[in-house]
Amino acid sequence: MSNIDLKSLEMEELEEVFIRLGEKKYRAHQTFKWIHQKMVSSINNITELPQGLRDKLNLNYNISKLKIVQRLDSKFDDTSKYLFMLDDRNIIESVLMKYKHGVSVCLSTQVGCRMGCEFCASTKGGLVRSLLPGEILEQFYQIQKDQGYKVTNIVLMGSGEPLDNYDNVLKFLKIIHDDEGQNLGYRHITISTCGLVPKIYDLADEEIPINLSISLHSPFDEERKKIMPIANRHSIYEIIEACYYYINKTKRRITFEYTLIYGVNDKKEDALEIVKLLKGMLCHVNLIPLNRIKEFIHTKSDEEAIRNFKDILIKNGINTTIRREMGADVNAACGQLRRDYIKNQNPFN
Ligand code: SAH
Repeated sequence: MSNIDLKSLEMEELEEVFIRLGEKKYRAHQTFKWIHQKMVSSINNITELPQGLRDKLNLNYNISKLKIVQRLDSKFDDTSKYLFMLDDRNIIESVLMKYKHGVSVCLSTQVGCRMGCEFCASTKGGLVRSLLPGEILEQFYQIQKDQGYKVTNIVLMGSGEPLDNYDNVLKFLKIIHDDEGQNLGYRHITISTCGLVPKIYDLADEEIPINLSISLHSPFDEERKKIMPIANRHSIYEIIEACYYYINKTKRRITFEYTLIYGVNDKKEDALEIVKLLKGMLCHVNLIPLNRIKEFIHTKSDEEAIRNFKDILIKNGINTTIRREMGADVNAACGQLRRDYIKNQNPFN
């Protein structure tokens, strides 16, 4: 049987581990701090624990760790892309983005993805596996250690669908928020989903005030189905209802991500339909110019179309921003770097 990852355990679970070993609870608190504050990558490095106890832990437990395979720093902006190797040699990627008001990281929640969005590189090879809470945390810890400063914001917008790995993502959130760990405020964390409606309700019921982002990409079900298979399972109407439920529970504003694709979803009728859908909702629209991938024939909308689209939304009272294209020279669109890396390792892939 493979060992259990101590980094993936919430405080109460860690206390149970030590109680089962016949130890005192305070050992769990010491261990938690060494793993989540000092960010150690092995049980042997928790020198506050007696050697005998470390040996005992090593029999059935480990601490998941990632190896940095590659770091690409953008020449144009303050973006760095990290390629990590997991213990089972799978590859994932994360992005660090420096803004005027803080430092943000974009983390992966799965190796690959099974949602099948046409324009997204992460999903092209399907889902390999979901990440453990410890493996999501470790991306954050490795980047902080590599950069030598504290990262202030997290977006779960890397490879994978966070709500398709619900239990592990929830554990990740609780651990990163723990005041004996990184103590990161929920308001500094954003989850992005393509719209797994039942899970949006579950998340709302947790009553943790994280930011929720919905990948909309078309206000018409029939058009949305052509680019996002999830639209066959849940209608836009169901998503909007779930969003109202989320807002009522958490009092948080929702962001709608909208990737603008030339001639596909950038017409005036699309913008006007978005206005109808979102009017009166506590929300914000983030327009993203399509980051071209070779598996998708379409291109991004031109600048004029993007500006016109934004103007229609703003004139009709919808808060809208255009996302800066960051890290274009380091393949910052989800999953592109990983795919290129795997291809280079195996030319037949
Ligand atoms: N699975 C989650 C989070 C991952 S992607 C989700 O679907 O929300 C984060 C955002 O980037 C999503 O809005 C996604 O639709 C968008 N995205 C993916 N590939 C893109 C590309 N090539 N160009 C622009 N946006 C893209």
